[in-house]
Amino acid sequence: MKKTTLALLVLTAGASASATRAAVTVADIENDAQTTGDVLSWGMGTEGQRYSPLTAINTTTIKRLVPAWSYSYGGEKQRGQEAQPLVVNGRMFVTASYSRIYAIDTKTGRRLWQYEHRLPEGIMPCCDVINRGAAVFDNLVIYATLDAQLVALDQATGKVVWKEKIDDYAAGYSASAAPIIAKGLLLTGVSGGEFGIIGRVEARDPKTGKMVWSRPTVEGHMGYKFDAAGGKAENGISGTVNASWPGDLWKVGGAATWLGGTYDARTGLAYFGTGNPAPWNSHLRPGDNLYSCSTVAIDVATGQIKWHFQGTPNDGWDYDGVNEFVTFDMNGKRFGAKADRNGFFYVLDANTGKFERGFPFVKKLTWATGLDANGRPIFDPANRPGDPVQGTDGKKGTVVTTAPSFLGGKNQMPMAYSPETGYFYVPSNEWGMDIWNEPISYKKGAAYLGAGFTIKTLDAKDIGGDYIGALRAVDPRTGKIVWQITNNAPLWGGVLATKGGLVFWGTPEGYLKAADAKTGKEVWSFQVGTGIVAPPITWEQDGEQYIAVSAGWGGAVPLWGGEVAKKVNTLNQGGSMWVFKLLRD
Ligand code: CA
Ligand code: CA
Repeated sequence: MKKTTLALLVLTAGASASATRAAVTVADIENDAQTTGDVLSWGMGTEGQRYSPLTAINTTTIKRLVPAWSYSYGGEKQRGQEAQPLVVNGRMFVTASYSRIYAIDTKTGRRLWQYEHRLPEGIMPCCDVINRGAAVFDNLVIYATLDAQLVALDQATGKVVWKEKIDDYAAGYSASAAPIIAKGLLLTGVSGGEFGIIGRVEARDPKTGKMVWSRPTVEGHMGYKFDAAGGKAENGISGTVNASWPGDLWKVGGAATWLGGTYDARTGLAYFGTGNPAPWNSHLRPGDNLYSCSTVAIDVATGQIKWHFQGTPNDGWDYDGVNEFVTFDMNGKRFGAKADRNGFFYVLDANTGKFERGFPFVKKLTWATGLDANGRPIFDPANRPGDPVQGTDGKKGTVVTTAPSFLGGKNQMPMAYSPETGYFYVPSNEWGMDIWNEPISYKKGAAYLGAGFTIKTLDAKDIGGDYIGALRAVDPRTGKIVWQITNNAPLWGGVLATKGGLVFWGTPEGYLKAADAKTGKEVWSFQVGTGIVAPPITWEQDGEQYIAVSAGWGGAVPLWGGEVAKKVNTLNQGGSMWVFKLLRD
């Protein structure tokens, strides 16, 4: 019997190489960071390190890196392109603005298929009509849409296999993060933190889209589990009702999981960052407002929160703590690191969430004077926007000028980690804001802020130069910034690190750049003709190493950037994929 099975397996493998292509398995996804022929997950491995063991493109050969092909997303729907592409079996899958997705031949740049999700009138994306990427599993490619749906398509044909609604877009829900696959489940978050939605993480069967469990990230809400027949059962309340929220505010408490998550097969935990508590006016909700502005570690097997770590309790500055939690080895233990929008870099035990170390990764941070022994911020009360009720007319509280701005020391652009250098490569920004509070009450589908603001540039003398963006190499062992490369405009794309001793990142000015990962010396750049606000990837095919990045200026900065938006309003929009490889000797 056993012999027969083996013979059949060999036959199947032989057939799949010539006719059909291999389906993506759970094991493929868990090994993604090590396998160089494909890119199967957001983060280039669900741990999120964005590190490749490839070495063909290195500090010596980089001068021969030239475009292999470019592909235009077409149409008038340009706007911000924030997606990380995936590469499977010679096909690239990349999402684009307005909930579009493309399949492209990785060698030639020829389009295989494209799919445009039909969006209704009245969607409410806060921060441009962007999407950050897809997930692949089996023969499917799956992505989220601006009207809060999930769509699964056949990788070969682009035909819709299933579609599921996450929630009501008319209540402010949307979705733009790349889903991840963990233990064979599809994990997704929600966007809409500026509209009083309820943040949560959902697990689905990736083959069918049917729910398996849901875990709210606002304390007080019930979690659920679902059976194959569609039955729904309670699965424990997240935290304790009213333990960290006054009155009924938790019912519209925000904490959107809008950047999605990471997953570490070694801990069995999925790590999701959570956004601001709603509304922004913190005087309405005394308390820590769990689990907003936190990293929440969820046991994928049970859908329970195993631990949480809150960067900004009782947030008053829109310091969404959504930033990716990247797991890595240090001193023989598994840790995770996060460069928080609030300007602090945190190193935590990946199994327990225990605080190991925290330090600012920006030069100007004024809302807190430091962190205590448990990593809790020591607030500077003078830099919390005032209570409008205490204001002179009851309509506007004291204006404070604080840093970072609400767009953060780091925002959606993911960092990379190199086990070779031991450094994290953090795309950071130096900026401040005037911010004040106003009275507000919840109204379905309306902005729920209770705040006004203007983002401002900082004095050059405070940050050591005239710049906003800075790619920084951060040592998680010491808290030191080892090197930095500054940039005129705010950085809004992500980073890729390679064993070839390089880091790659893009700028709003339209350059894809590479630097020596050890020294921070810039060694290569290429102008793609529009701003880059997406993370690059790399893979190898037929013995050649490729680099790819999506290009297209947009995202939150031109929409929300105040004085900084004026500084970048000369940049042109676009929408294309750029792929590079080495010119032969
Ligand atoms: Ca891989
Ligand atoms: Ca927010």
